[in-house]
Amino acid sequence: MANPKVKLSRSRVRRRRNNVERLVEYGTLSKCPRCGAAKLPHRACPKCGYYKGRIYKFPEEEETEE
Ligand SMILES: [Zn+2]
Repeated sequence: MANPKVKLSRSRVRRRRNNVERLVEYGTLSKCPRCGAAKLPHRACPKCGYYKGRIYKFPEEEETEE
């Protein structure tokens, strides 16, 4: 049977599953062109509400530029 040669440590597995950038690579999530936050594709950004050149909803708190 195809079994892994070496068992992955708990921290290594968690580190891999914690990787949000991977979702962007795989196309599950896309990046907001305005603020760079991960967002669902074809949806307004949850952070700044930006989509297709305009703001669709206003976030409750003020934007913080980092
Ligand atoms: Zn955004």
